[in-house]
Amino acid sequence: MTRPDTFAQPWETRDGIRITGVRAIATAPEGTPLVVVRVDTNVDGLYGLGCATFTQRWHSVVSFVEDHLARLVIGRFPGDIEDLIRLARFSAYWREGPVSNNALSGLDMALWDIAGKRAGMPVHELLGGKLRAAADTYLHAGGATIEATIDQAAELRERGWRHVRLQVAQHGIGSYGTPSIPGEFTDSPYPVGWSVQEYLRTTPQLFERARTELGEEIELLHDSHSRLTPKQAVLLARRLEPYRLFFLEDVLAPELWDRLPEVRASSPVPIAVGELATSMTDAVRLVRDRSVDFLRCHISAIGGLTPARKLAILCEMNGVKTAWHSPGDTSPIGVAANVALDVSSVAFGIQETHEYNAATYDVFPGALRADAGWLTPNETPGWGIELDERAASAYPPGLSGHDAWAAGVRGRDGALEAP
Ligand code: MG
Repeated sequence: MTRPDTFAQPWETRDGIRITGVRAIATAPEGTPLVVVRVDTNVDGLYGLGCATFTQRWHSVVSFVEDHLARLVIGRFPGDIEDLIRLARFSAYWREGPVSNNALSGLDMALWDIAGKRAGMPVHELLGGKLRAAADTYLHAGGATIEATIDQAAELRERGWRHVRLQVAQHGIGSYGTPSIPGEFTDSPYPVGWSVQEYLRTTPQLFERARTELGEEIELLHDSHSRLTPKQAVLLARRLEPYRLFFLEDVLAPELWDRLPEVRASSPVPIAVGELATSMTDAVRLVRDRSVDFLRCHISAIGGLTPARKLAILCEMNGVKTAWHSPGDTSPIGVAANVALDVSSVAFGIQETHEYNAATYDVFPGALRADAGWLTPNETPGWGIELDERAASAYPPGLSGHDAWAAGVRGRDGALEAP
């Protein structure tokens, strides 16, 4: 008896379209390694692109896609997205980790791109169609001083943005989203360390000044980047209450997410968490356990558009808003997936965005650009975005700078902190 081919197409399909190739392309036009999955088919010109970016471990994602995923799906009908993604997850037996879920995200988004191209529709129409014209976005302002941060925010407001994330510099190489304040803690065993006490003191000062100088209309956001204890998180949230934050992001590291419900219950400002979720399972718990007001997953880390659209519906049913993660370590394909969901989801709250350099727009023709803070999806089939592989090859990625930065976040005593 011959062993059945468990990777073969399990049922009849209405046409003979089949996946013929799966590759991962890594490129760093802005210095940050991006990973894009390309799925080819036996139909001339029909292929899809997906974002699999895990910038700190991109080599492993490329290997996962090409050495493991490709063999599972080549020969299969690309329209069976849910089955292909479940096959890719379950066949590994162990699941829910980063690397694997980044690779799956790339495959998943590429299949949605193909589905849109086959239907002649942009992906947001496959998701039910638009219920808003565009996604409102926020950008980051982070200066070496409070004045510099407020100047950057004022400039963004001048350019049309209605939402801005504010960070202000701290001493030490762990300062987040800003340059560091010059000078060291010379009385400490690790003089270039970061001080949570300094952070808790200066952050309310930043927002007090911001409200005074920027006025009441602009929406202000802030990211603690996983560095607080539950009590510190509540203390900060209460100190920020008078300045009416749009949201306070990532107050606790993922290791402490079980404590989020009590932090959120005690916080007078909305809590946004989720960029470090690496599976739909993790993200579901955040919603189910009443841990968040805004869910902000990295769609390229949780398994792609398929789980993200389920999460968006879960958020809708639970009164939670979405704020998908999307700084420079999301590729323009990932941005397109975020925006397809944003414009078609009731749960949309806000969209993080990033202005790429010119080289990135050369590598990704059709990439979306925010205009006066609004991101509007392409109306062309699929994502409406190409990957110019020749242009991409001019920017070979090196090792990510992100992990070197994260490894530098230490306290004044030298102890490593959550980055
Ligand atoms: Mg963040």
